[in-house]
Amino acid sequence: MAKKSKTAITPTREQDYPAWYQEVIKASDMAENSPVRGCMVIKPWGYAIWENIMHQMDAMFKQTGVKNAYFPLFIPLSYLEKEAEHVEGFAKECAVVTHHKLESDGEGGLKPAGKLTEPLIVRPTSETIIGESMARWTTSYRDLPILLNQWANVVRWEMRTRMFLRTSEFLWQEGHTAHATESEAKERTMLMLDIYTKFVEDSLAMPVIRGRKTVSERFPGADDTTCIEAMMQDKRALQAGTSHFLGQNFAKGSDIKFQNEEGTETFAWTTSWGVSTRMIGGMIMVHSDDDGLVLPPRIAPAHVVILPIFKKDEDRRTIMESAQGLKDALEEKQFHGRKIIVEIDDRDIGGARGWGWVKKGIPVRIELGPRDIEQNSVFMARRDNPSNQKQSIDREEFIDQITDILDNIQDSLFNRAVIRRKENTFEIDDKKEFYKLYQKSKGFNNGAFIMSHWCGSEKCEEKIKKDLSVTIRCIPFDSPTEEGRCICCDNPSSRRVLFAKAY
Ligand SMILES: [Zn+2]
Repeated sequence: MAKKSKTAITPTREQDYPAWYQEVIKASDMAENSPVRGCMVIKPWGYAIWENIMHQMDAMFKQTGVKNAYFPLFIPLSYLEKEAEHVEGFAKECAVVTHHKLESDGEGGLKPAGKLTEPLIVRPTSETIIGESMARWTTSYRDLPILLNQWANVVRWEMRTRMFLRTSEFLWQEGHTAHATESEAKERTMLMLDIYTKFVEDSLAMPVIRGRKTVSERFPGADDTTCIEAMMQDKRALQAGTSHFLGQNFAKGSDIKFQNEEGTETFAWTTSWGVSTRMIGGMIMVHSDDDGLVLPPRIAPAHVVILPIFKKDEDRRTIMESAQGLKDALEEKQFHGRKIIVEIDDRDIGGARGWGWVKKGIPVRIELGPRDIEQNSVFMARRDNPSNQKQSIDREEFIDQITDILDNIQDSLFNRAVIRRKENTFEIDDKKEFYKLYQKSKGFNNGAFIMSHWCGSEKCEEKIKKDLSVTIRCIPFDSPTEEGRCICCDNPSSRRVLFAKAY
């Protein structure tokens, strides 16, 4: 009988999924909790992933004419008040600056002083402050469109936080555009969702469902919110990106007006769209296993680690030279617009060395010892395979095939996630069955993605949320029109929507 294999991460996913998640982050050295409640420290291995996300997405944005800019961290309270739904949506989670200096409290401490006449909000999002600029920059239709993006941090005061998934301060990009016509703004909303879809599926290897949010789940102040939703290994959904059509709501609030071609003064149409470090949390939860982080090669900070094996001291020089030669040869190659990055780890720490790289999720591990050099081969392990599965390959062949191997890992991670989602997505028409499935779900098994009919009433949506903590993740674009009955109230419905528990 096979011995039950030990895992590098305890607890395992099945034992305690949330604890496993925290442990994967810790063991991979991506990030840690900070002394500031709700805020995290992103360490170099984690930040390099964010840098790769930034570089890749930034190029995609710029290809569509978007330019980067930077706006203030502080938003005057009165700005936020310009759009009623907007302020209501964010009021509960705002960090507010009320003073501008510190004074001695006479007991060796400090106290805030210099009360501001108008409080400043640490930006939860920047529609209103960017709108103020857009209003000044726009007089004629010739000034439009304005296509802006900023890479920044935002603050949304969270009571329950979890690294990458939900932190009070997080990193993101926020795009903001203004257009002369409604159709152009709607096109831009979809174009950016297309870019998010492509990036998340191609680079993060996370399959997504594209759709529209229900009215109650919309971005505060938007006319339409489109989104991409991914399934995590515990079958919960994670919203990986949103693109909003804001209609003329923010243009009216911020007074973004222009003279159209006919000479009539009219309000612009705006959009906003964003993804954040939350995506990294999603990527961790989709691919990682009980041995730690698993990184899609296209986003990994490094692709290959070489682990030299020294049997005798006199081998050291030959082996290190051989390792360096291998690194140089590999690093001459490009992988999806990026140089292949190779680490050499010659620390003498025994088995912890190899396990360390497994836990960091590096796509390919190479062991290089005297025998491999003699045979002109390398001993390779892929992170998408079980950690004890290793194979000897001819050294030249390995160098030739490295990009194929990495593409193959990338594809296998994506396909695995597609299969998992398929196996856990069901159409349900019976209310009892729907309730039973979610009521009995717990721990690692948080139910499934359920496609069910919904009449469109907020009451039904609210009831299911209250009863089961299940929400309508989106009305998928590809869900066909068909006759059915609402899963909650049995009234006629013309379309299925996507239900799930969500992060
Ligand atoms: Zn209903």
